[in-house]
Amino acid sequence: MIKTKGYAAASAKALLQPYAFERREPREHDVAIDIKFCGICHSDIHQARDEWGGSIFPMVPGHEIGGVVTAVGSKVTKYKAGDKVGVGCFVDSCRACAPCIQGFEQFCIHSPVFTYNSREKDGTPTMGGYSDNIVVDENYVLRMPGNLPMDAAAPLLCAGITLYSPLKHWQAGPGKKVAILGLGGLGHMGVKIGHAMGAEVTVLSHSLRKQADAKRLGADRFYATSDPDTFLKLQGEFDLIINTVSSPIDFDPYMALLKIEGSMVLVGIPEKPIQLAAFSVIAGRRSLSGSMIGGIQETQEMLDFCAQHEIACDIEVIPIERVNEAYERVVKSDVRYRFVIDMASLR
Ligand code: NAP
Ligand code: ZN
Ligand code: ZN
Repeated sequence: MIKTKGYAAASAKALLQPYAFERREPREHDVAIDIKFCGICHSDIHQARDEWGGSIFPMVPGHEIGGVVTAVGSKVTKYKAGDKVGVGCFVDSCRACAPCIQGFEQFCIHSPVFTYNSREKDGTPTMGGYSDNIVVDENYVLRMPGNLPMDAAAPLLCAGITLYSPLKHWQAGPGKKVAILGLGGLGHMGVKIGHAMGAEVTVLSHSLRKQADAKRLGADRFYATSDPDTFLKLQGEFDLIINTVSSPIDFDPYMALLKIEGSMVLVGIPEKPIQLAAFSVIAGRRSLSGSMIGGIQETQEMLDFCAQHEIACDIEVIPIERVNEAYERVVKSDVRYRFVIDMASLR
């Protein structure tokens, strides 16, 4: 077994604290990775605080992992020691169901094995990237772009793919008006990627505080949702709204901002069920939909797209001792725009 250092939450009410545990030795198809950086996703906070229910403790969160391969199993063909690699939100899936075969491993009908707060096929709880190493099957490892700094590229593994996948699926591109609702970790990647795809990008944020940032990130327009005029001015405006908001909001006024047959796609995951007036979808044949991360092949495609367009995340790098403070700041929307833990602070 591999002795591993990390940070874990012992329960939903506990702060994250240093935690020692063991990982398996690499099997034939496994890649052993020295973790250099790991992003802090709002999903880490939801799960560490058991806001979605069913959390497994102790929990080592982290699914935006950038690192370097240290060893590979005897049958590994895709990676070798020294390669720069990434690991995202899941580390295995059944590989046999229709979604897995189509490259939608994130929608595996038996559930993917998530990177943490989940169980391996043998029942072992998975432990995530707030740690110094991880062992993952080569088929669930990504190749990191050589031209992007690894700290700023690590959050692409969740924030990047979660926005790339719906933007591509709903055909963001020239002539399309896309709104990004919520300018946080996910939202800021939506602005960068949507802009690179050629769409006209509007940010809808709860105040005007982030306006200058949004322009710098590539947004064409910016509106505060705290201003009731915003909802009058933007009636029937957008082909696509990507909703990244992590807390419950009233969806109906946003549905009215869609064109006929426009779609609002949920990627934010508030803890409570949502409510929607039937008229919000009936009028204008509008759609409310959702999207969850992306498959392995699409995640690699996203990394290559970001490399080509030189897109990475805007980050604040922290030592791991500051993780609890970072959680508080994420919850207050006080992050520009992703915290990334430098794992050198753990060694
Ligand atoms: P984040 O950095 O905290 O960003 C969320 C943004 O939502 C905030 O920056 C804020 O933007 C806005 N917001 C928060 N509370 C709000 C409120 N009460 N009213 C209006 N706007 C509010 O979080 P994140 O890491 O981007 O994650 C966002 C959500 O997506 C989380 O629920 C997370 O679990 C989920 N998620 C889903 C997937 C998926 O696959 N679907 C993947 C990763 C994460 P403004 O300041 O601009 O208003
Ligand atoms: Zn995430
Ligand atoms: Zn499957």
